[in-house]
Amino acid sequence: MNTQALHILNSTFGYNSFRGHQADIIDRTINGQDTLVLMPTGSGKSLCYQIPALIRPGVGIVISPLIALMQDQVNALTLLGIQAACINSTQDYATQRHIAEQLRQGELNLLYIAPERLLMPKTLAFLEQISVALFAIDEAHCVSQWGHDFREEYLQLAILSERFPNIPRIALTATADKRSQQEIIERLQLNNCKQYISSFDRTNIRYYIQEKNDKPKAQLWQFLQKHRDETGIIYCLSRKRVEQLAQWLQSQGLSALPYHAGMSTQARHQNQMRFLQEDQIIVVATIAFGMGINKPNVRFVAHMDLPKSLEAYYQETGRAGRDGETAEAFMLYGLQDIISLRQMLAQSSGSEEFKRITRHRLEAMLSFCESSDCRRQQLLAYFDEHLEKPCGNCDNCLSPPKTWDATQAAQQALSCVYRSGQRFGVNHLVDILLGNLTDKVQQFYHQHLSTFGIGKALNKQHWRVLFRQLVAKGLVEVDVDAYGAFKLTESCRPILRGEHTLTLRQQAFNQASNEKLNKSPQKQKHMPIPSHLEPIWQSLRDLRKKLADKQGVPPYVIFHDSTLKEMLLTWPESLQDMEQIHGIGQSKLTKYGKAFLSLLQQHTPHD
Ligand code: ADP
Ligand code: ZN
Repeated sequence: MNTQALHILNSTFGYNSFRGHQADIIDRTINGQDTLVLMPTGSGKSLCYQIPALIRPGVGIVISPLIALMQDQVNALTLLGIQAACINSTQDYATQRHIAEQLRQGELNLLYIAPERLLMPKTLAFLEQISVALFAIDEAHCVSQWGHDFREEYLQLAILSERFPNIPRIALTATADKRSQQEIIERLQLNNCKQYISSFDRTNIRYYIQEKNDKPKAQLWQFLQKHRDETGIIYCLSRKRVEQLAQWLQSQGLSALPYHAGMSTQARHQNQMRFLQEDQIIVVATIAFGMGINKPNVRFVAHMDLPKSLEAYYQETGRAGRDGETAEAFMLYGLQDIISLRQMLAQSSGSEEFKRITRHRLEAMLSFCESSDCRRQQLLAYFDEHLEKPCGNCDNCLSPPKTWDATQAAQQALSCVYRSGQRFGVNHLVDILLGNLTDKVQQFYHQHLSTFGIGKALNKQHWRVLFRQLVAKGLVEVDVDAYGAFKLTESCRPILRGEHTLTLRQQAFNQASNEKLNKSPQKQKHMPIPSHLEPIWQSLRDLRKKLADKQGVPPYVIFHDSTLKEMLLTWPESLQDMEQIHGIGQSKLTKYGKAFLSLLQQHTPHD
């Protein structure tokens, strides 16, 4: 173990020990070797290149696609006493020249830069003249053409291996299945690369998936009751729905802001800033929001629509609970989601192979939703990780779903699809099964089909769910070119012939009555503030907010909640005491120690 690295961890960052593979990764990078780091969000990837950049001579170059967030990262590092800067196209000439001068003088420890900027011939030529400590390639999964964040420029980063053969490169990501891992190593041409893969289990996140009924807003509202006054992200598939939902939440008195790619850059930036700065705020967004959002105290992520893949689901839900405290991931999904996603896929201009892979991913997502097994076990299995026992912290563990023998109902549904000519969507099929004499039924003489009215044992909602489950199981498919008409697939034959039985998850339409899930997750680490300490807790937060505003950074950049709580708990009486607190290094001690100490001194621990 590199003692200098440990010293920096203690004195600069204020942490006691390295987590997981951090120490090994840091050692390797200091020694000049290439590394691929796969660690879930919030597990501490940044230290893996920040500390080597402080130890190796020269400046550490951090390549990131998230230009909007670079300044935040620089601000946070500056507060730690680290010399950092970023370069981007919004800066004026004087600023850029100043940074170039600092680089020439060897004054910077870290430089953040977007790939397109780095790849400019003049930037590369400039870097060849100065001393570079390392290249950190953040969000490295962007090289993967199959992933959801593919960036053309990332492919060209391979050039670093030719132009800077002696400089270590460290690629980092929080999402990559086996195939993308290989892709990253190949495409970035990492040499003798060692991979470090941490467990992807985010134990503090509780997964909770519900089928969407005809009042999704009410379902969301009920979920939000557990998260009053907390920060969260709500994802919707379309811009329109984002706007509508944000407005509705505002009309209910919540601070909710929309975020989607159709808004002006300025409006988007403003909402993102508010999200980072404020404490009790909800962003309603399309997936355009979130990459690189590192607000630590996001307490919930809700999906109003089905995500495109389990990777996307994992990534998006992973934005909750980065501070390690309890958080919840909530998802609603329904038949219409499947149809919409299939439609989007059909209309996409991607290659056949792209469509095939995308379809495969969607299917994995669906079977995840429909399954009765532990969500965490399944999610981790998708990333080739084996979790021994069910987790005890997901909906299926907390409230095991019942199953039923759906063979006969499935046979009725399948033969109804077949007899009506495989040309109709779910509403009409259900009308036939229920024996509803609608205009459309009469127009096609479907009252004379043998399946007309044979399904009265189930109601409309049950039939819709059953059709969705048949789609999820691949027994029927939705033909998006034919207005969502259902068609049979090969695999439904054994069921129609009675050779196979079909067991399905019983749908609980009244999940409102489910006590265990409606209770807030146990706040294990989330120590409640004793009521007599509330006023001083509030003063600590006010002081933090005041300091943050003065520096133009979000409050958590000054101190995390957990650091403030530790102050309350240990009541430091001197700067030495204060330095023992998690998250307080020398720079922050010097900057803020006195202010917090004198605030504490104005109270006594027991008043
Ligand atoms: P990632 O980039 O993997 O999402 P970050 O690098 O932003 O995660 O780290 C997440 C949080 O964990 C940060 O607040 C960071 O300061 C903290 N952290 C990282 N390493 C350690 C450590 N060894 N001990 C304590 N806290 C740490
Ligand atoms: Zn579980």
